[in-house]
Amino acid sequence: MTIEDVKSHLICVHPLDNVAVAVNAGGLPKGTPLTEGFAVREFVPAAHKVALRDIPQGSSIVRYGQVIGYAAIDIAQGAWVHTEIMTLPAPPALDALPLATAVPPELPPITGMTFQGYRNADGSVGTKNLLGITTTVQCVAPTVEFAVRRIKAELLPRYPNVDDVLAITHPYGCGVAINAPGADVPIRTIRNLSLNPNFGGAPMAVSLGCEKLQPARLFPGSPSLPVLGDDGYVIRLQDAEHHSFGDMIAAIMRAAERRLEQLNRRQRTTCPASDLVVGLQCGGSDAFSGVTANPSLGYAADLLVRAGATVMFSEVTEVRDAIHLLTARAASVEVAEELIREMAWYDEYLDRGSADRSANPTPGNKRGGLSNIVEKALGSIAKSGSTAIRAVVRPGDRVINRGLVFAATPASDFICGTLQTAAGMNMHVFTTGEGTPYGLATVPVIKVSSQTQLAERWPDLIDLDAGRIATGEASIEDVGRELFQMILDVASGRRRTWADHWGLHNATALFNPGPVT
Ligand code: CA
Repeated sequence: MTIEDVKSHLICVHPLDNVAVAVNAGGLPKGTPLTEGFAVREFVPAAHKVALRDIPQGSSIVRYGQVIGYAAIDIAQGAWVHTEIMTLPAPPALDALPLATAVPPELPPITGMTFQGYRNADGSVGTKNLLGITTTVQCVAPTVEFAVRRIKAELLPRYPNVDDVLAITHPYGCGVAINAPGADVPIRTIRNLSLNPNFGGAPMAVSLGCEKLQPARLFPGSPSLPVLGDDGYVIRLQDAEHHSFGDMIAAIMRAAERRLEQLNRRQRTTCPASDLVVGLQCGGSDAFSGVTANPSLGYAADLLVRAGATVMFSEVTEVRDAIHLLTARAASVEVAEELIREMAWYDEYLDRGSADRSANPTPGNKRGGLSNIVEKALGSIAKSGSTAIRAVVRPGDRVINRGLVFAATPASDFICGTLQTAAGMNMHVFTTGEGTPYGLATVPVIKVSSQTQLAERWPDLIDLDAGRIATGEASIEDVGRELFQMILDVASGRRRTWADHWGLHNATALFNPGPVT
């Protein structure tokens, strides 16, 4: 192939930008003429940035209309702009941010959109019908997993309306400073995970007996949990009545069978789209994520908000550098201040660990053309769409608001997924550039690729290809509408995600900022 055969294509997202992203699958060879009227000075890999004009040393490199870095050397028009020739700008100061100064006006509501879900007593709606067995401590996890294998083999086939049985296991519960301030986060996470709508809103728990995280502490005097108490839905392995391992398994199976009978009576009913609680996340992002997958997810997020649903976006370290854009979009000064509180808490947390936000981008992010955390953040927040931010949820807390919500979580895929599940998510959308087989057992995960190349290489892992936006085959609106419909179909059980098809379910990963003893 000669240079003349390369049909060059650059994506520039804002008129102020002085860099654009190369779209060609194999990258742009040196000397490739661009429609912009100049040639590429050196090989530029796909998804990486090309300088649209000369950028003298020390001056701003601008993408998304925002400064993503400063030129460390003189950068010539047509040069490859990458991590090594950029310096990182300071993060926006938290004491000088605009507070609710640009609250977006409400978009016209969308009515009549529905899905088929399992309505729970607490008003929440499940998209799966699962028996979840919570563990108070890691000591009991292998025992519960043993019981679950037998429940699946011997009991589940008799309850066809129940989709699956899950052991909710984790490394927490003992050997930890249970009264330290940070302990609240993992404890409320395990509690709210157990109450996820897909478990019917009612937990069954297995405890050891001597552990620090006692069942009464995990579910303190909650009248909304009628299954906890004397009726045998908490099984303590150390109780005198168990004379053998066999006795313990029999007790767990008896309680499980009672829950299976209740769950089996549930049926899908027509629910308004406003009962959806959709968690948004990205992982393995590349420079396309911010122009294809995330903006189309943002378009779908706006449609969901217009339909009255709850939409959560998260990942503190990936919004920190764009926080000035988010505090302005907060629905009120109070919500803006809560956003700042979460950012300040995380700045301090990173500081305590002698790390800073530059620890976020991965080698894969950089290979994918994302030079630093500022560029990653600007692409990441495109997921949140354009509506006002209505509320902020602390890590491990349950979301109660409708509309767009910031659920504060680390950016780690499995920890964010765990915390969004605890927040009450019943649908998950995950965008990826480099690709990941990520999935969750509790909640369906729709995976959206930022590049067609990935969707073609992994046709049995990627549910939706947003790369068609880069090549001009589809618009952001087209993919956003397709995704909105896919969310309704998957939530209704009419369509299965690839992660559920293969049973790819990442482990519960708690966020524990407290000390281990
Ligand atoms: Ca992530």
